[in-house]
Amino acid sequence: MDEFIKLLNKDHELVHYQIKDKAIIFHIQSSRKELTCPFCGSKSMRIHSTYEREIQDLPIQEKKVILLITTRKMFCDNPECQHTTFVEVHPFATPKAQKTDRLVKNILHTSAQLSSLNASKLLKSGHITVCKSSICSLLKKNASDCG
Ligand SMILES: [Zn+2]
Repeated sequence: MDEFIKLLNKDHELVHYQIKDKAIIFHIQSSRKELTCPFCGSKSMRIHSTYEREIQDLPIQEKKVILLITTRKMFCDNPECQHTTFVEVHPFATPKAQKTDRLVKNILHTSAQLSSLNASKLLKSGHITVCKSSICSLLKKNASDCG
């Protein structure tokens, strides 16, 4: 299963996973010790706190996939930086997104030919949870028409 996580990003590793009735939950974390402040570019190894971020990914074998990612908040020690802390960025999802980039791509691909209501139904049967309104906002963000 760790190989699946490595396909997502080579710096991430699997801590453990649970297979449930309808979902597989992967607890993962980045193995990088040093993170770069997105505001000033300085490197930091000083952890402020950690929390768990939940992101939906592409389904596996008819099960919904949830990534629970240990995400660090770091101190930026650069005195010239405008920010004293920053949050770890995971390269496979945009900050604050609840879906991986590859899942978003899949949803957009499915939705391109359908109304967002039908796309939502079709995706659900393919074990991807996305509501009609979030399809609309994804389509808008990617500059397509929302039907
Ligand atoms: Zn900084």
